[in-house]
Amino acid sequence: MSNSFVLVINSGSSSLKFAVIDSASGDAVLSGLGECFGLEDARMNWKFQGEKFDFAIQGTENHHQLAVAKLVELVKEYKLIEDVVAVGHRVVHGGEKFTKTVRLDESIVADVEALSDLAPLHNLAHAIGMRASMAAFPELPQFAVFDTAFHQTMPAKAYTGAIAKELYTDFGIRRYGFHGTSHYYVSREAAKMLNKPVEESSFVSVHLGNGASVCAIKDGQSVDTSMGFTPLSGLMMGTRCGDLDPGIIEYLMKKGWSQEKVFEALNKKSGFLGVSGLTSDARGILEAMEEGHEGAKLAFQVFTYRVAKYIASYMVALDSIDGIIFTGGIGENSLPIRREILNSLKLLGFTEDEKGNEAARFGAAGIVGKSEMLGAVAMVIPTNEEFVIAQQSIELL
Ligand code: ADP
Repeated sequence: MSNSFVLVINSGSSSLKFAVIDSASGDAVLSGLGECFGLEDARMNWKFQGEKFDFAIQGTENHHQLAVAKLVELVKEYKLIEDVVAVGHRVVHGGEKFTKTVRLDESIVADVEALSDLAPLHNLAHAIGMRASMAAFPELPQFAVFDTAFHQTMPAKAYTGAIAKELYTDFGIRRYGFHGTSHYYVSREAAKMLNKPVEESSFVSVHLGNGASVCAIKDGQSVDTSMGFTPLSGLMMGTRCGDLDPGIIEYLMKKGWSQEKVFEALNKKSGFLGVSGLTSDARGILEAMEEGHEGAKLAFQVFTYRVAKYIASYMVALDSIDGIIFTGGIGENSLPIRREILNSLKLLGFTEDEKGNEAARFGAAGIVGKSEMLGAVAMVIPTNEEFVIAQQSIELL
């Protein structure tokens, strides 16, 4: 029997992540990354059958196109091309227009490009990657899967900002939410683990990676999430500040900071990096804490306190809860961070399952705690956004 592989592409402004996913198992048959586009040392590296390879992309421009051309060579050389039945593109922002995965054609690419006002760093880059891929694989059906789509079920009370109406009608300012593919995937897997139909299951899904967000999921649908108009709001992240008093922006600008400097400070110099003064990487924070680094200790405390506050606040969005789901690089691997969050939720009845918490690491799913009071568990579910992109592309085929 032949395989059904999907080529998954995530095109960024200076990078292009790719993977050939087996749509039945979710395994990556080939995976890689092109990076430093626009610079002299643009390059690509990839992994195939456990071996790692790299390649220097020549020339000083059109790196997205050159990377996709190399990708065509690779899937042919590795004899994967006969099994690739579709291409799925990850798209950060679908605005209010895209509530589900769609098949790509030039008009959809133009729509994605038009939404770049809302996500300037991402959507323009996605359109470049889509056009390069459509030119390189003209015979393959291609699909766009949106990070925002899962959250389009949020009620108006969750997505409406407490601001003048014209900011919404004229500029589209509202909560959109991101990480939708991840929250979607882990909630489906969590329901399976609990042997419940997802349409009758409610969760608080906690995606903790370099970017981090929480999502309240009621009967399988997103009803609130912590990222908002941009992926800057909500939780503290690797380098992003999360929720912040908007008055601070005016204050800094009055002090002579430019818009760029404020943006850079809140996006690139805040979060774990800003608070610890050390690193944006959670592993580095945990190691430094053990050596007694005060900044790292504070960063750990601010981070876990804020995650726990968000989880508790989402009890308002739900009628019942089956589980808290931890996912993302930190959620899947960091025992002390999960422990501290669960300890902070003791008024909701949560206690840690120490053995479970120790076991659920490095790709293993499991139960890490529970609340008898709420009838809920805390669980770890490793995310797999590429798998969702592959599955949804196949479903639409
Ligand atoms: P991204 O949002 O870029 O996809 P990931 O989901 O891969 O990021 O998460 C990256 C984060 O996960 C980093 O902060 C990293 O330190 C953290 N992480 C990975 N492994 C561990 C671990 N064993 N313990 C603690 N944190 C970890």
